[in-house]
Amino acid sequence: MSRFGVKAILDYSVESDISQEEAEEKAIQGKVSDDQIPEAITALSGQLDPKSVETTHKQFNVHAKFGDRRLGVVSARTYFYSSEHECDKNADVFRNCIDAVATTTDGRGFTAVKITALGRPQLLLKLSETIAHARNFFKTLTGSTWENLVLSKISREDLLRRLKDFGIKADSKLIEEWFKMIDFDADGFVDVHDWGNILEHSRDFASMFQIINVKTGKLEPLIPKLSSQENQEFSNMMQRLIDVAEHARSRGVRIMIDAEQTYFQPAISRLAVALMRKYNQDGGFILNTYQAYLKSALNDIETDMHLAKRENFHFGCKLVRGAYMDQERRRAKEVGYDDPINPTYEATNDMYHRCLTRIADEHDARGLGKVSVMVASHNEETVRYAVNLMKEREIAPSQRVICFAQLYGMCDQVSFSLGQAGYSIYKYLPYGPVEEVLPYLSRRALENGGMLKKVQKERSLLWTELKRRLASGQMVYTVPEKNDI
Ligand SMILES: Cc1cc2nc3c(=O)[nH]c(=O)nc-3n(C[C@H](O)[C@H](O)[C@H](O)COP(=O)(O)OP(=O)(O)OC[C@H]3O[C@@H](n4cnc5c(N)ncnc54)[C@H](O)[C@@H]3O)c2cc1C
Repeated sequence: MSRFGVKAILDYSVESDISQEEAEEKAIQGKVSDDQIPEAITALSGQLDPKSVETTHKQFNVHAKFGDRRLGVVSARTYFYSSEHECDKNADVFRNCIDAVATTTDGRGFTAVKITALGRPQLLLKLSETIAHARNFFKTLTGSTWENLVLSKISREDLLRRLKDFGIKADSKLIEEWFKMIDFDADGFVDVHDWGNILEHSRDFASMFQIINVKTGKLEPLIPKLSSQENQEFSNMMQRLIDVAEHARSRGVRIMIDAEQTYFQPAISRLAVALMRKYNQDGGFILNTYQAYLKSALNDIETDMHLAKRENFHFGCKLVRGAYMDQERRRAKEVGYDDPINPTYEATNDMYHRCLTRIADEHDARGLGKVSVMVASHNEETVRYAVNLMKEREIAPSQRVICFAQLYGMCDQVSFSLGQAGYSIYKYLPYGPVEEVLPYLSRRALENGGMLKKVQKERSLLWTELKRRLASGQMVYTVPEKNDI
């Protein structure tokens, strides 16, 4: 691949070969002990939209029927939690993967990391629910809309007034202390970033996101009460993630955090951005993944880019359409919350291109080295769109602002042409011991109906090339030198 200018992303693809029933059982077994809506939120039932509190809780809860997260997913492998020891082994695998990238790609490759491999996924669900409730509360406090949330903030005086409107009984000294605690940048205002600031400041699940319970007037965690074992597991998960990132840093290998199902995404994205803030001071060392099939995609990018600009770190993004569409739609319908996916394929395409353009605008505004995006797509129209955008904005392929990625064995005609034309292009390589990678690869081959259309196109291109070589007598293709292109 490297002869054609194509680089590698190693994606450890070992998947447990378990039945659907076993997967559903595992999901239920892994449920956290306290499964209630936090007291501090129910106490706000007069102020918060009760429908949104209830649906948020349902959305981020475990549902046995959707416990087999592999169903309908072809381009992503799935981890099932079995023990802390297994998660330690997964962290070791990521470290080995980083070593392999360091030695085989001359520091130019990436390692893909799935956070669900590093801890009990149900803890990510709880963290996601907490983030969703906290945002909802912040939106109500500031009277903002979802679109404007990133620009909303509230001063100490306004907060006091709003809480009084809510009928709060807490004394003003406690509120003062609370305000100081959540105003992380001490600028006299609490904004959405202060509100959501976690990883840097606390590893203890229970003390995160304390809010005032309007009924009792006491500070209470927004997060449900976890057992000491669950608290320990959460702290283990954070530690594994940090260890993997530190190891990557020490080997000079970049990592990308994969996006997964929407009910994990608030937590995954929050952690990925916390890593970016820590490690992206001098460039795009960590990439977070954004899924354009989500109605919220542009808003999510806007929020994270806003933080990156404010705190002057590099915003690194892998932009995909999203791999879990059918599963997401079915779950939303059956569990009873709004479908998070764009209504049509065209709407997803439009969202993809709007996100890409917005990132290019941010690059224009912040300058070289502050923003980068990986166009992770097989869609030829999108690749063309990105190439044209680069021309329009005078972004050279060598500047590492926009690069491309495709799955190994998919759309090689696009990847290899991009590589030979000097664009930065990567292939996602499933990797691992053959017999353990087979469950994932065979599932991908069996379920891959949509992608087969693209394979047919590749087959017809291969025939054309074969005929061309037979007719011209040039049986072995020689890679042109860069200056021949
Ligand atoms: C390098 C790489 C890394 C990836 N990493 C991730 C990851 O971390 N997380 C992740 O979720 N996925 C990931 N994917 C998979 C990706 O999200 C897509 O599923 C896959 O690439 C197909 O999309 P496309 O742009 O290549 O092609 P296309 O065939 O043009 O798009 C198909 C996609 O469009 C969307 N879509 C299709 N029909 C509709 C509809 N009716 N309404 C709304 N949207 C629709 C769906 O997202 C579908 O997958 C990755 C893909 C690549 C190439």
